[in-house]
Amino acid sequence: MTDNDLHTGDRADLWRDYLRQKCRKQLAEIGREWPHNRSLYIDYKVVERWGKEGIALADEILENPGKVIEDIRDALENNTLIKTADNQPIKKDAINIRIKGVTRKVLLRDLRAQGVGKFISVEGTMSRISFVLPRLKEAVFKCPAGHFTKKYIHHGKYVEPTGCSTDGCTFKKLDLIPKRSTYTDSQIGQLQELPEYQKPGEIPHHILIDVEDDLCGQIPAVGRLTVNGILKSTQRIVRGEKSATFDLYIEVSSIEREQKSFSEIEITEEDETAILALAKDPDILTKISQSIVPAISGYDDEKKGLALQIFSAKQAVHVQMNKVLRGSIHIMLAGDPGIAKSTMIRLLAQMIPRAIYISGTSGITSAGLTYAMRQDGFDNRWVVEPGAAPQADESQLFVDEIAEMEAGDIMALNGILEEQKINFAKAGMVGELNTRCATTVAMNPKGGRFDSCAPLADQIPKKIPPQLLSRFDLIYLMQDTVNLTKDAKDASHILGLWSGNDYQFEVNPPIPALMVKKFIAFMKRQPNPILNPQARKRLMDEFLELRKQSENGTVAITKRALEALVRLATAHCLMRGGKEVALQDAEISIKTHRYSMAQTSTDPATGKFDADKVSGHTKEKRNRASTILEILRNQGGKCTREVIYREMAVKDMSVTKEKIDIILDQMAQEGAILEPKAGVVKIA
Ligand code: ADP
Ligand code: MG
Repeated sequence: MTDNDLHTGDRADLWRDYLRQKCRKQLAEIGREWPHNRSLYIDYKVVERWGKEGIALADEILENPGKVIEDIRDALENNTLIKTADNQPIKKDAINIRIKGVTRKVLLRDLRAQGVGKFISVEGTMSRISFVLPRLKEAVFKCPAGHFTKKYIHHGKYVEPTGCSTDGCTFKKLDLIPKRSTYTDSQIGQLQELPEYQKPGEIPHHILIDVEDDLCGQIPAVGRLTVNGILKSTQRIVRGEKSATFDLYIEVSSIEREQKSFSEIEITEEDETAILALAKDPDILTKISQSIVPAISGYDDEKKGLALQIFSAKQAVHVQMNKVLRGSIHIMLAGDPGIAKSTMIRLLAQMIPRAIYISGTSGITSAGLTYAMRQDGFDNRWVVEPGAAPQADESQLFVDEIAEMEAGDIMALNGILEEQKINFAKAGMVGELNTRCATTVAMNPKGGRFDSCAPLADQIPKKIPPQLLSRFDLIYLMQDTVNLTKDAKDASHILGLWSGNDYQFEVNPPIPALMVKKFIAFMKRQPNPILNPQARKRLMDEFLELRKQSENGTVAITKRALEALVRLATAHCLMRGGKEVALQDAEISIKTHRYSMAQTSTDPATGKFDADKVSGHTKEKRNRASTILEILRNQGGKCTREVIYREMAVKDMSVTKEKIDIILDQMAQEGAILEPKAGVVKIA
């Protein structure tokens, strides 16, 4: 017996004692639930604190995990620590020994060849993940004489035996017998370092992870996680040739999910008292909206919309009616350049845990908005790489410069916003990714600047399909109009930002940043409230009132807008910590919604809501277009613009030359009229 054996023996006994003392309950559970439950979890933190040997055992886990796992397996088998329900001992290889709770984390970018064989714990997010596939565990081979040879296949590598294992048999060429071999589930993925460790202008570091058996399918495709496992290396194969370079990967022992989004913020009892007191404030919406992006001055109404969006209800399902209810409030900020749209949403994304900011012009991940399918270098299988929207699931997504995005991504937004999931079917893989993220998009109008008289649709870049607009609960048109009082206010605020910490701002955020975060986190943990009868009636009345304003032909407000009203009211209820959506929530919702409607859907000529204005066909304009055609017909099908102005003035005093020009241009664009030479129009 060598020293080493003695040492091993010692440790197996120590582990036996440890398992008996610390894992009794788990061992009994595995026995009862076998084979469904077949993983024993060893908590590093508990081992470390276990008696006087704990620290040595814990150190050994980090330094020599392969041996520790064997020791633990020996301890299990030699002492029959696990018995099945019908009192059968379980073979040691049939139990996965998984280690969790390792406190010392390594940075992904610090992983080097020296660490190979050691136990490591790294944090990151999954950038790709494959489907679960069977992997050979024990391969059975047959030689021409009919002898069987068994070979244990290690992670990823398939190596054939050098010859038949039967004594006296000299056959070298053996055939794999798939039916006799045993398999285990396997899954591979790519772990990417956390954004806070990524350096600007550098490609994020990542590492392959290899998962087996019952851990397959447990890896969250989105969100932060900790991966514990053994660092391994595998020889890179380049075009079928073995290369001198080795790739590192982690043979995963256990994963720990980071708590989801807002729930990771710690709230003490004192915080809770303060939060509940704050929630009683009758004007909590104003207070929160003034505190979320204090660096930006003005935009009181837009900020209210954005504040309500943060409190969007969770996706729910009406079970009896089998209907998915979207709680996410989606917002579009369309406006002139240089008015802080980008800055505002960037700051918001920083404040909200797990929120993602992307821009059509830069900073988009390689998987784009949706997902990408790639073939992995490890064992050539296809993997799904979630894009920005699935990564923002259960948080918020901010898409800047949306009109600059690829056409495919813009189309995909329809599904992301309404169904809140993306389906994929590619390379033989079918699946779906959740995108339950409240989404804000920002863009500049087509001509660079907005014209408040022209319909919104005419100013929205062609790439944005009109039906996409109806997905937004709130659309804000932000115009850079000159208003010297307001300009002076904004200017002193911006200059103040450059004036050091002692500068006294005119407006200060009523709630400090950390408290805002805690407040949001606390309220978002509450269950979704439901509509009470008063709120229901108020929203119904508002809906019918708006419908009434529409005259025959135009549709002032769509049914989608009714749902927007509900979502806004529900968010306000969550914001004030209410249990049911009440009248006061309905009132706020209506006010917020009307502000947005007034900008996008009011016909400038009549002052009435007209949902068709968003899509570019107001009833008023349709009437005018037909009047123009009538004039043209009376003039023999062709006349100058001057004649049209004159004739229109006779029929309709309210219409200006400029407006007629807009209508004529649009008719020409739509092909209703031709302009054979400047200033002359003709029926097409
Ligand atoms: P946009 O995306 O609308 O084109 P940006 O977000 O790039 O505009 O803003 C341009 C600059 O002007 C930013 O530095 C922004 O901070 C500043 N700015 C514009 N309006 C305001 C405002 N109301 N308050 C604070 N800063 C502002
Ligand atoms: Mg911008």
